[in-house]
Amino acid sequence: MSQDPRIGAEPTDFLFDTEELYALADGALIAKALRHAHDNRVTHVAFGEGELIATVEDEDQEEQLDLRLGYDADGNLWSSCDCGAGSGICLHGLAALLAYGTAGDADSRIEDALGGGHRGTHQARLR
Ligand SMILES: [Zn+2]
Repeated sequence: MSQDPRIGAEPTDFLFDTEELYALADGALIAKALRHAHDNRVTHVAFGEGELIATVEDEDQEEQLDLRLGYDADGNLWSSCDCGAGSGICLHGLAALLAYGTAGDADSRIEDALGGGHRGTHQARLR
């Protein structure tokens, strides 16, 4: 058996809850990624061969970026994205994760954390 530096992750390994997402990136990046996911800019996301494969359209460049997410032998999440971001997970990787799904009820909790529940207040102020 040849030595593979990457471990074969399971589909559920790519489901993150709110705390895990905030451990990966800061709130501003998560908010932007969530907007990408809601705007259907994640045009493709699927699990295959231990990796998550996705295509995400960048909001600013309006370019389709191909990316892959996986785990290394130490269990650390890695991402490889056409945007060429350095180490760590980029906006597009986060958007793909959010579009793929979240663990438990993380979705609504994240939106609460981002101030989605205050929309009424904003509307009231516009009058
Ligand atoms: Zn990227």
